[in-house]
Amino acid sequence: MVSRVIPVDPFDLVIFGGTGDLARRKILPGLFRRFCAGQMPPEACVVGAARADMDTDGYRAFVGEAIAEFGGDIANDTENLGAFLQRMSYVSIDARGEKGWIELAGLMRESMVRAFYFSVAPGLFGDLAERLNQHGLTDADSRIVVEKPFGRDLATAKELNRDLAAYFDEGQIYRIDHYLGKETVQNLMAVRFGNMLFEPLWNSQYVDHIQITVAETVGVGGRGEYYDKSGAMRDMVQNHLMQLLCLIAMEPPSKFDPDAVRDEKLKVIRALDAVEPHHIVRGQYEAGEEGPSFREEVNDPRSRTESYIAMKIGVSNWRWAGTPFYLRTGKRLKARCSEIHVVFKELNHSIFGEQEDHRNVLSIRLQPNEGMTLGVTIKEPGPGGMRLVDVPLDMSFADALGADGADQTDAYERLIMDVIRGNQTLFMRGDEVEAAWAWTDPIINGWHTRGDVPKTYDSGSEGPVDAVQLLARDTRVWRKVSS
Ligand code: NAD
Repeated sequence: MVSRVIPVDPFDLVIFGGTGDLARRKILPGLFRRFCAGQMPPEACVVGAARADMDTDGYRAFVGEAIAEFGGDIANDTENLGAFLQRMSYVSIDARGEKGWIELAGLMRESMVRAFYFSVAPGLFGDLAERLNQHGLTDADSRIVVEKPFGRDLATAKELNRDLAAYFDEGQIYRIDHYLGKETVQNLMAVRFGNMLFEPLWNSQYVDHIQITVAETVGVGGRGEYYDKSGAMRDMVQNHLMQLLCLIAMEPPSKFDPDAVRDEKLKVIRALDAVEPHHIVRGQYEAGEEGPSFREEVNDPRSRTESYIAMKIGVSNWRWAGTPFYLRTGKRLKARCSEIHVVFKELNHSIFGEQEDHRNVLSIRLQPNEGMTLGVTIKEPGPGGMRLVDVPLDMSFADALGADGADQTDAYERLIMDVIRGNQTLFMRGDEVEAAWAWTDPIINGWHTRGDVPKTYDSGSEGPVDAVQLLARDTRVWRKVSS
């Protein structure tokens, strides 16, 4: 099956922070992939805008190098690369001063979709919004894309929302959470709301519990200074894991429309219970073969920031009351994987007599190898009576749909094309972000008030042993962390 690529409308995209790490690793290679796929129209233009003194030729060389390093298999497509680089220009700009703005205004064309990607520190969001307005670079149809972290608590998130709202309507603001751009995450909505099979069972009557795991093998590395002020709760749970929880828990929206979807997600966040301290396990990795300890990497022997967190969360509504959501995320773990497991209840009566625990599990894998598996119970083949065994009913998109089924379009490029199309479904709305911080703040404040110290865990392990006990207390076990 050949996937259809529908070109977006011609656009001018300005990447503030166009020389930064995110632009180099994700945004620029992603745009090039869309160009090669025929989705970025030949008339589209991209302007890198950053502090570095550079001219357009210098920037084209910079973009070429970024694609060579991070473009993967498309890096060798020299013919397309030449044409793509012709679409690039560069302006040396100061978000807080006057430098570069008039030059930037001169590059903007009429009758094009205009998008401004704020790939800079959040402290500059307000300045950029103000300057864009002051220089008349935006109109009611212009869009801005903002990166995480969107605040570090409710107060700062509100401040950012206020700064942006001074110049842009909510319908123009695209808050990126790249987890929402993953193919499997969108497929989760298709599976839930496009089939009769799952939705009737998708509630506390049939679902025993849900596990969401985002495990990384890397430590904080060079991001120590930033990470020590953030921690796993702010860096991962408040945004990525919360978004995944919302997609699993939300009610069916009346239609697949940005605000209908986001309204339902918001209701989930508002229905989250406050989390009891004994339902949270925080951890810090020890030194190991993989590298120094967390405290060494953040250069603070007394740091109380968590590089790991596991928690049990209740959702107080009719659908989910009584079905816990267990979330965990951490660095320097055994394997890199992001997975959701919907674990169904045991049969209330087995006609096959005494058997081991058999239950259905729907596993949704975001990375690596995106796909879904439904664990079903069948008869173990061969003679020897009616012995039951669990086997995966593999919904491998690649097998079913051919090579295109395993579409590896990166989340960033998918989301940038959504910005150009003006589709906000996969972006966080301001009230969602604030609601998520309103839930997160008391948890973090509680740690500080009580002086909680994270447990330690071995590098390359599955996390602190206390996390195992968190589920064991409920007679449950975590799924294995494996790649
Ligand atoms: P970076 O430090 O590598 O790059 C920062 C960019 O901002 C540079 O291009 C710099 O020239 C520009 N800049 C700084 N001050 C400026 C000013 N006064 N005027 C104009 N331009 C200015 O940062 P990054 O890693 O690319 O991250 C950018 C944003 O994306 C941050 O908010 C970060 O939190 C977020 N983010 C990054 C990643 C990542 O993987 N790097 C992932 C998720 C989110």
